[in-house]
Amino acid sequence: MRNFKIPPEYLGFLYFLWFEFAIIDKRKFMEEYSIVSFMPDWAFVTLSIIFLAALLYLFIKIFIIKPAFFYYIEDNLYKIKWKWRWKKDKIIELYCFCPKCEDRLVYDDTSCKDSYSLNKETKFICEKCHFSSSLSGGDISYSLNIIEREINRKVRLDIYEK
Ligand SMILES: [Zn+2]
Repeated sequence: MRNFKIPPEYLGFLYFLWFEFAIIDKRKFMEEYSIVSFMPDWAFVTLSIIFLAALLYLFIKIFIIKPAFFYYIEDNLYKIKWKWRWKKDKIIELYCFCPKCEDRLVYDDTSCKDSYSLNKETKFICEKCHFSSSLSGGDISYSLNIIEREINRKVRLDIYEK
């Protein structure tokens, strides 16, 4: 929808077409709402165009133009490449990839299963090139939470790469 322009020579033609259709509608309206009959044709047509333009503007603003962060869908965080999607302002389908070979990483958070373990961490491993990295503090959902918070922080402070 960016840079969408109607060539000026078409505008007159569109107005003419609209005029024809709107007048037919106006005659239908007149049968039900007497107020319309006081209005001159040109006023009715112009008002209906303004009304529709406002509706169209709202529609585009709400459904078509996404906020800038919708295009922020990958980043390197904690030495790992992350990709995700946005659903409204929620992060969904957050996946991790190898920063070297782009393969999907597997994780290992078995250290968190042992409740006496002091060194809780989630390891992220590339089975293809043996790259590995880890996030300390907790299991996979804890680690994903850290990443989500970091993404949200960058969006909030507007410091993500565009
Ligand atoms: Zn790899």
